[in-house]
Amino acid sequence: MELAFIIVAMVWSRFFCWLHFLGLVPRWVLYLLPLYLREDLSCSPQHLSSVFLYVLVTLALYFAGCKSRSKGSSLKPHITGNLIHDWWFGIQLNPQFMGIDLKFFFVRAGMMGWLLINLSVLAKSIQDGTLSKSMILFQLFCALYILDYFVHEEYMTSTWDIIAERLGFMLVFGDLVWIPFTFSIQGWWLLANEVELTPAAIIANCLVFLIGYMVFRGANKQKHVFKKNSKAPIWGKPPKVIGGKLLASGYWGIARHCNYLGDLLLALSFSLPCGISSPVPYFYPIYLLILLIWRERRDESRCAEKYKEIWSEYEKLVPWRILPYVY
Ligand code: NDP
Repeated sequence: MELAFIIVAMVWSRFFCWLHFLGLVPRWVLYLLPLYLREDLSCSPQHLSSVFLYVLVTLALYFAGCKSRSKGSSLKPHITGNLIHDWWFGIQLNPQFMGIDLKFFFVRAGMMGWLLINLSVLAKSIQDGTLSKSMILFQLFCALYILDYFVHEEYMTSTWDIIAERLGFMLVFGDLVWIPFTFSIQGWWLLANEVELTPAAIIANCLVFLIGYMVFRGANKQKHVFKKNSKAPIWGKPPKVIGGKLLASGYWGIARHCNYLGDLLLALSFSLPCGISSPVPYFYPIYLLILLIWRERRDESRCAEKYKEIWSEYEKLVPWRILPYVY
């Protein structure tokens, strides 16, 4: 069943990415939503078959990658000979199936899965008569973030996951399991816990979301625009460019990864509606902080190797990694 839905979604997504929904929505209505409404979320055979399917899909990626004879950077195989390592990190950068870019396919499925799980939680809280201001804020922020992804998906093409990470178990599991099931923990927590938010707390929470969104979207957009046209103005002025390749103005002149700061503020805004009585709803921002510090270190060494003295010059001009005057 699961496999049938994925194949249907894949065939449709050839024509238009939003049709992806057509593969996932019936699955949600027929399977996931009733589970939530019945509170039957125990480890069912369907869950086990999902894990089995992901292992099969990633093994198929592994074997198809090994067989590739392509010399192009997207499909060239990177084989270390260590089966576990190669299966985990992947063999090819941007493998395709029936003309579909599989990286984008899996990210889309993960983002939609996250939205559908959140909507299931929302339906459950309405059914139980426990819909609260906290739940509404959480739902609203996550929905805006997810929809924004689809509106600005093009900007993804200059990000680390697309340009540097190969497609293996780590990325597929991250997209299809980690994103939908762990990013929605706050909603699950709110189903079982009551939170009273003061008007001041709601306003502060909205501000964290808005500032986070402005920095996150602004920084990613500035880099994307710069990659297409290195002369395009930044904040109304000609950009400061190092060695003709690195942008050092706008958000990229404040910290070398201001986009991570914006994302961290957004993650925090998804958890703040849960108050501060428990660390459980803060799983996502804490995980993201660890991931992005690790990611930033990996990206820095990649850029130092790629750009050499130009990168050192950039580091001198913009000394802060993520948060000015702190890190
Ligand atoms: P970036 O979008 O910052 O991409 C890094 C690359 O950008 C570098 O390798 C380099 O590539 C280029 N670059 C870096 N600095 C400059 C500069 N000053 N001028 C021009 N090009 C530069 O990183 P990510 O892909 O990691 O992140 C993208 C977004 O995704 C972020 O907002 C992040 O927060 C978010 N994200 C969210 C996650 C989540 O779980 N919620 C997980 C991971 C990321 P090149 O070789 O092309 O120049």
